Amino acid sequence: MRVALVTVYSHAECTLKDVAGGYGTVFRIGESLPARLLARAKTHVAELPPVTAGHLAQAALAAGHSVRVCDVRRLPGQHDAVPTGLDVALVQTSIVDAAAERAVIEELTRAGVHTIAYGAFATARPQLYADVARVVVRGEPEALGAGLFDPTLRGLVEAGFVADLDALPLPDWSPFPVERYRYAFLARGTTLPVAGARGCAYGCGYCPWRVTAPFRERAPDRIVAEVRHLVDRYGARAIAFRDPLFNLDADRVRALARGLRPLGVRFSAEMRADKLDGAMLEDLHSAGLRSLEIGVESVDRAMLTREHRKPPEAAQIEAVVHAAHKLGVRVVANFVLGLPDDTEDTFRASVAYAKRLNTFAVQFTVATPYPGTTLETYASPRMRLTAPETHTGWEPTFEHEHVPTERLRALREWAYVSYHYRPRYALRVARTALTALRDRR
Ligand code: SF4
Repeated sequence: MRVALVTVYSHAECTLKDVAGGYGTVFRIGESLPARLLARAKTHVAELPPVTAGHLAQAALAAGHSVRVCDVRRLPGQHDAVPTGLDVALVQTSIVDAAAERAVIEELTRAGVHTIAYGAFATARPQLYADVARVVVRGEPEALGAGLFDPTLRGLVEAGFVADLDALPLPDWSPFPVERYRYAFLARGTTLPVAGARGCAYGCGYCPWRVTAPFRERAPDRIVAEVRHLVDRYGARAIAFRDPLFNLDADRVRALARGLRPLGVRFSAEMRADKLDGAMLEDLHSAGLRSLEIGVESVDRAMLTREHRKPPEAAQIEAVVHAAHKLGVRVVANFVLGLPDDTEDTFRASVAYAKRLNTFAVQFTVATPYPGTTLETYASPRMRLTAPETHTGWEPTFEHEHVPTERLRALREWAYVSYHYRPRYALRVARTALTALRDRR
């Protein structure tokens, strides 16, 4: 059979699908010229395929099918036709492009294609796709193996999740335009994604990663084998680890560093600051770590605790950022603005703290009630925007108790613009560029 992996885009701004628990985000921070320049710069930072797509390609090829990778853009001024000459279309679903995905699926089904909707949003809201797709998969579609391509499948299919990630065959990226995939914070050459773990062991109430599937980790030697394969077969220069939580177990992280060190790749990972120290950072840096993402979220630790987060101590965060800067590792500090108990004061204090940390990159996402989160339960009576596409991760979607929507928007834009247009930040960028020039890895 002729199988296509279809991804639909309906926003002109930078859209990332394999983030926010797979619900996706659209980077839109404001209308001022500085904000638009920052948004444009963001589009050049990263382009990476979702790991699941590589697994689905592997399953289809192993079953003897051919595989095409198709992006369908439905933007203002660009209306791509649906791909033709297909038997099966696997359409990845996301919250941010749900309406356009529905439209594309409907056209494909009408053209006689066996359409399969899968992904985080189809799992959370299967009814949104049920009347247009032949099959809606809830859970991780790779758990179905070759059975996913059974043409007699119809309706809602419960795939569950992959209990043993080590038993999954490695993703096959051969049908993908791998030379296009990049992460500018890491390397100039091809960057490919690897999931060393899925889900998260923590339970932050606003986080979509913990709701889509349970936490599972792979064995370090399997991860190293995958990275070696990506280097040998695709010439990968860098690896973007997609684990929401890379460093739960120190022994496992050290074993992974030992295995990665001889491979000569650079890598990025998301880590908990309270599970890192200077020695582990040095270990990871010598193994290729060049970009580190940490969740700070807010300076108000009591508020975070009420959101079921176990926030790292400020001293731990500062020590990690300091050690990473010394080693030349780029740090991305993530903040979330507009949690229920946030006020303009806590908001401003968090931005001031971000400036003190002065990391190479920051994210000030807006608290978004993603399906399945406790924030969704809290916000449901207060929703001002209910269309899935409005849940971009940067748009206030519910009436905040303490900060009016327009003010929240203005503060978000101010946070980004005032962070990036500072002499001290320019110095950070210059220092990082110098370190990168000297980096021979
Ligand atoms: S630690 Fe990070 S990934 Fe895990 S639940 Fe909290 S915010 Fe989500």
